[in-house]
Formats: sequence, structure tokens, C-alpha cells
Amino acid sequence: MAAQTHLFLCLKDNFGVLIHDPESGATAAIDAPEAAPVEAALRAKGWRLTDILVTHHHHDHTGGIEELKQRHRCRIVAPDAEADGIPEVDETVREGDRVRVGALEARVIETPGHTAGHISYVFGAEKLVFVGDTLFSIGCGRVIEGTPEMMWQSLLKLRALPDDTQVYCGHEYTQANIRFAKTIEPNNAALLAREQAVARLAAERRPTIPSTMGEEKAANPFLRADIPVVAQSVGLTGAPAWQVFAEIRERKNKS
Ligand SMILES: [Zn+2]
Repeated sequence: MAAQTHLFLCLKDNFGVLIHDPESGATAAIDAPEAAPVEAALRAKGWRLTDILVTHHHHDHTGGIEELKQRHRCRIVAPDAEADGIPEVDETVREGDRVRVGALEARVIETPGHTAGHISYVFGAEKLVFVGDTLFSIGCGRVIEGTPEMMWQSLLKLRALPDDTQVYCGHEYTQANIRFAKTIEPNNAALLAREQAVARLAAERRPTIPSTMGEEKAANPFLRADIPVVAQSVGLTGAPAWQVFAEIRERKNKS
């Protein structure tokens, strides 16, 4: 049987998500913004929490870990470089490591920039990626601990995943991201199509994710910094892609 996922909101605009292996009954939470919504989601699905896979140390991704660990005795997997800042860590992982959730297997890729040790979890067979705060739908995380060049390299790693990979990110920021993206590429047809689709979802109060990597590649300006029309729109024709990325990120920070 195929893996099942369950998406729900936590805190103000964080996403919580569970991935479940029906064969073994194993269930992992990707990050744990707060305990109560994770518990509610587990009850709603009738699933038992076996693992928490942490993407980075920020409190709005780790605040629920201690309470969930106490109740479920679940395994906490966290990025090696940030383990000191994350509670109750059982296992640390780095680039290329494999993490099993029952019969499901994730590959770890290091995607630093938002934080220095941020990681993403790729479930290759299921064509799912959990990107935390590195990539958002039509946006990307703020570059807080790393450099723009580092963040651009992380985004390139994610962009290399197959187009039909479903992308689960850490926050519901899509509508604001689209408004900003249109200032960079006002005539991008894929972006305008995504705007329509997202408006419909928002009207129904439904989450705007997961998107696919193909949709992000076509419409997310932060993944398009090496495309001439994007460089041109920020006045950096011929500049290295990471500089174009840095300029777009800077404009978003000020928007
Ligand atoms: Zn964060």
C-alpha cells in the first residue's frame, strides 16, 4: 500500500504534516510546531506516532517535540549540525543518510541557508519532499544563518528533484508569495495560473500545498534566478545566478 500523508495547520501559519506507512503502522511527523494539533491529527487518522523528523532548530518547528516524545516515546531524528538546539534528539543525520519510517525510506539532503544546518527529507519512491523553511510555494525562506550563495545552492538541489515530486513546506505563505512573484515576472503564465488555483483554494479555506516541483520550477522566482528574463527584470543581466537570487530575496525582505 502507498504512503499516506495528512496535512494540518499549527500555530498561526505553520503546517504540520504526518506521513504514514499502512503496512507497518509507522507514522512520522515532519517537525512538531506544537503538540496539540499533532495529537488531534493522530486521533483523526487513528495513527500512532513513531517518529519526528526535524528539518531545523527554529522553535516554531520544534516546540511540540518534548510533549509528543513524553507521550509517544517516538524517535526524534534531527540535523547533525543543529542537534544541540533541538530537544530529545535520538538520531542525527547528514547529507545522504537514509531514514526509515516503517517500510518507507527518506534520503536526507542538506539545504542550508535559512539556518546553517537545515535539512530536507526526500521520500524518493513516494515522490514526496519535506523542505521545512528552505522552499515555500512560490517563495523561499529568509536567509538567516547562511549566505545567499549557500541558499541558492540548496534551492538548486531541490530543483533537481523530478517534476512530479510533491513539495511540502513549513508555512502557508503562498498568496503573499504570489503577489511578490508578480513584481518579478508579471507575465509568467504558470505564475498567473497558480494564482488562480490558489485563489480558489483560499476561498475554500483549503491549504495551498502540496505543490509539485514542476509547478515551482515554472512559477517560483527564487528557483528561476538563472533564467535570463528573471535576471533582466531585476536589472542584473549577465550576473551570476546567486546574485540574482540575492537581489530577489532582498526585494522580498523589503516588500
Ligand atoms: Zn525556520
